[in-house]
Amino acid sequence: MILWRQLQRESFTALDKVALFLELDPENKAKLLSHKKFPLLLPKRLAAKIKKNDLKGPIAKQFLPVLEETFLQEGFVSDPVEDGSFRKTGKLLQKYQGRALILSTSVCAMHCRFCFRQNFAYEKEKLGFEEELAYLKEDTSIHEVILSGGDPLSLSDEALKALFVSLNELEHIRLVRFHSRFPIGIPERITEEFLEALTSCKKQIFFMLHVNHSEELDDDHFRTFKKIQRLGIPILTQTVLLKDVNDDKESLKTLFLLLVSHGLIPYYINHLDQVQGAGHFMVSKEKGLALLEELRSELPGYALPTFVEEAPHQPSKLVIR
Ligand code: SF4
Repeated sequence: MILWRQLQRESFTALDKVALFLELDPENKAKLLSHKKFPLLLPKRLAAKIKKNDLKGPIAKQFLPVLEETFLQEGFVSDPVEDGSFRKTGKLLQKYQGRALILSTSVCAMHCRFCFRQNFAYEKEKLGFEEELAYLKEDTSIHEVILSGGDPLSLSDEALKALFVSLNELEHIRLVRFHSRFPIGIPERITEEFLEALTSCKKQIFFMLHVNHSEELDDDHFRTFKKIQRLGIPILTQTVLLKDVNDDKESLKTLFLLLVSHGLIPYYINHLDQVQGAGHFMVSKEKGLALLEELRSELPGYALPTFVEEAPHQPSKLVIR
């Protein structure tokens, strides 16, 4: 546990330090935004994959705050999926029938500049999940609990185990799904203790990993994912379609092939949620559809994720393709 906590602490959080590390010239440095509201958070492992003095690569684009974030764009709002309106307790959202989402923590391993939850007012006062568990106990129509955040892997193994002990007691809960991006930045988080915590959960676990580009991944990740897969936990992935990050056929094809060749299933590709400050990441649905259509003839069906968007107050995500 000490190692990953330490790695988390050692991530870049200061613009000057990351600019120095990336050897940015004054012209590139001037493109960065000293952003107070949603601060820079970049694990060193990811920073090391950015080409020196280059802000154009897929990792630099996703994690470095730039001036474009201050441009106002019509339709881009603070809470694009209206998370606030689905709050049932301080840390629980229920959007869809049969499923409930626990905002297990506000902390992530990295800050993705396009994050739709970057303005969310997380409940930080109360420790534990007493109210959330009471809600789950009461509503026996809920069969799946989604652990989201922030990132549920920011919780300690002890906190996760305690949550599993409580969930194990609720017979109607059959599935536990992790929504996580943490191991992309800090694969060391998948410790023996974490794996042991997973085995203490008596429900079927699914792991939904957020990954957007093949450059985020290396052999360490796949060795780590294997440890989760060996526990009988399927790893599905979700990808956000992002301008100048992965909105070209080769980037998507390389990513999806890499994932399936390690037994990870590309499950969703998400149309961007229109959060304020992320307008420069927008890719049209038409372009997304055309890209997926091209890929259909080049990849097996199981390597092609479903193209979806989230629209508030709908019974499920909307399938674009
Ligand atoms: S890891 Fe997920 S929750 Fe955290 S900033 Fe990135 S997209 Fe948002």
